Amino acid sequence: MSSTNFIEDRPLQDNLGRRFPYLRLSVTDVCNFRCTYCLPDGYQKTHDDVFLTVPEIRRLVTAFAEMGTWKIRLTGGEPTVRKDFLDIARTVAGIDGIRKLAFTTNGYKLLQRAQDYYDAGLRAINISIDSLDPRRFHEITGHDRLGEVMDGVQAALDTGFEAVKINTVLLKGLNDGELDGFLSFVEDRPISLRFIELMQTGDNLTYFRKHHIPATVVKEKLKERGWEVQERDIGAGPAIEYVHPDFQGRIGIIAPYSKDFCTTCNRLRISARGGLHLCLFGAGGYDLRPLMQSDEQKEELKNKILDLMKFKKSSHSLHDGDSGVRQNLASVGG
Ligand code: SAM
Ligand code: SF4
Repeated sequence: MSSTNFIEDRPLQDNLGRRFPYLRLSVTDVCNFRCTYCLPDGYQKTHDDVFLTVPEIRRLVTAFAEMGTWKIRLTGGEPTVRKDFLDIARTVAGIDGIRKLAFTTNGYKLLQRAQDYYDAGLRAINISIDSLDPRRFHEITGHDRLGEVMDGVQAALDTGFEAVKINTVLLKGLNDGELDGFLSFVEDRPISLRFIELMQTGDNLTYFRKHHIPATVVKEKLKERGWEVQERDIGAGPAIEYVHPDFQGRIGIIAPYSKDFCTTCNRLRISARGGLHLCLFGAGGYDLRPLMQSDEQKEELKNKILDLMKFKKSSHSLHDGDSGVRQNLASVGG
């Protein structure tokens, strides 16, 4: 990873003055799990499964890096199902200006692959674990693999990843009784476990009504147990982080329905087919792929991205029950 600092004559910025150091790049829509709130019937093949190629990704990330983006998260779908995932990681890690390369994974085969991921330049890993109870984990993901995923978490710690985080979607009636179990899990481990409030999507309305819990419920419980809010780092993701003197790990809360969620927005998203999504919950993406076809198009690509910034809205409309027509989060990365 290079430490080159570009003179950002034209940094990415929207009309509200928000800057975008952080890009979430989806590399596939495909997933091998069937999480009940995301892809309950598993990934359904569509007419067009041609995801961004490595050269397209290199051109895209180079353009973003030259406009001030320095943190990239590879996501999906399940990013690691791509056979060329390591090649993607190596390519992105080698781009001038990229200082932090992260990925989000369901932990499939992580035990066997953690070292390869690290060697390819990945330094931060988010692993999704919605329950520490093997039966419930199976029920939520469609896979009886909690033990394997937990071994993968340990492998990531042993390998020396700079940040190991766990994503846990809060689900009423499923994992809402597990708070203390999750807290003890981070007691002696340098892990940040982040509770994500379930988001409504086009596909999960009935599920959402049944299982959504406001993040405020967990915030109250953390306060009662002596956890305190930590200052937010520059380039940090959307979590509000809590610390406790008796715990090595941290707890994060990602609450997209909270009133301040959008004011600290510092990220943009690219779908696996090259659509720029200005908001996780905005409607369709702006197709950038035609401008990723040759190195000569770089200035045109940058101009296009800069131009689209004016369409970034101040806030999503989730409070009004508008899910932004996103069918599920696997299509653009959570
Ligand atoms: N497959 C990888 C994984 O599960 O970690 C990466 C993609 S997944 C879409 C990224 C994150 O989004 C996961 O932590 C997942 O739990 C979360 N997610 C998916 N659908 C969600 C929803 N409707 N509400 C809240 N989080 C969701
Ligand atoms: Fe797959 Fe991740 Fe969605 Fe689960 S949350 S179905 S692992 S993309």
